[in-house]
Amino acid sequence: MSSGAICFANRLVIFSNNDYQNFPYSLNDSFDQFDVLRRVHSLEFSSDEAFKSKVSFDETSARPTTLTIVLHADSTLDASGIIQRIRSLAGMSAFIVLWHPEAVESPSLRIQAFINGANMVTCNENHLKDVLGTILAMQGTGQVMQAMQGTGQITCHVCGQQYMTAQDLWYHMPLFHIYHPNFQAQCQICHEHVDNMQVHVHEEHGPSGPCKEVRCGIGAAVVVHRCSDNKFLMVQEFANQGYWLPGGMMDGLQEPLTTCAVRECLEEVGMEVEVKGLLQIQHDMSAGKQGWRLVTFYAQLKEEAKPSEAKTVPDFESAGSCWVSAEELDHVPLRSETLPRKWFPLLSQQPDFVIPPLKIPDHLEHLFRDVTL
Ligand SMILES: [Zn+2]
Ligand SMILES: [Zn+2]
Repeated sequence: MSSGAICFANRLVIFSNNDYQNFPYSLNDSFDQFDVLRRVHSLEFSSDEAFKSKVSFDETSARPTTLTIVLHADSTLDASGIIQRIRSLAGMSAFIVLWHPEAVESPSLRIQAFINGANMVTCNENHLKDVLGTILAMQGTGQVMQAMQGTGQITCHVCGQQYMTAQDLWYHMPLFHIYHPNFQAQCQICHEHVDNMQVHVHEEHGPSGPCKEVRCGIGAAVVVHRCSDNKFLMVQEFANQGYWLPGGMMDGLQEPLTTCAVRECLEEVGMEVEVKGLLQIQHDMSAGKQGWRLVTFYAQLKEEAKPSEAKTVPDFESAGSCWVSAEELDHVPLRSETLPRKWFPLLSQQPDFVIPPLKIPDHLEHLFRDVTL
């Protein structure tokens, strides 16, 4: 380890109301890597002091500490109140995971959990393993990583977490603060004053260097349909913007539009899809303007893709994803109403609707001469 490197004491507390009957056994390896692990078989805290005694430990050294909390609840639990209470007692820098089978499947419970203070809602053991590994690597437990990086000088603007490197901050911001409103600040890495810290860190200080999004004015949106129960895969957007379709801008004009659609699905909802039709084209190409074009595709999961693998690890692309029915659209915030409100009911309630072919309609071809489908 490099000299002066700070090694955190990483604490993990698992609260459960059901004796771990449904906790995948393989997660124990990840849990055991924390310096201090405590399992609490109750969600009842008679007082704030009782809670604090459960999550605080006698520290023999003056090492800085981190706190990760996994709330493992079965479907009998209404998690909202308990998450809110845990967040207010544990502080902003704690990482709180809700492991809850119903919240994973329900778009409104998912959103509610984040609003109440959860950082992640999952029932996917691989996703949780990944995140716990990232947290440990960030905070000085990953000794190889620590030796390479030394100790960072960056303090998080939002929660005050200290001693981070630029790379730590890049992982930390979406994991710990995905629902935090975008904010202005002076960047501690390059010292620039920026209007949107989240976008700035994402685009300028990634592990493999700057990766500024090319804003070429042409994008794809994707209606990903699961026919078995007529649900559609939606992105849970960052900064509490509600749900929307997976989609985004082309990575420059050389990227085919369908490739863009598949890539955005992988990034935003974590699923491999097959594009099967072209539903709609919206555009504004009025003379004298930069103009924009948005193509909405119809897609289904690739055959080998498992619906249960939908993304639950927050990163700069999204807070996660969820399968949503046409009826559920009334009960969740939407980043934009137009496309889901039009296509979800039509595709799920009109079985004789024929998916339009994967082709730019003749009368719009002149708008797409510079683009490969
Ligand atoms: Zn923070
Ligand atoms: Zn910067």
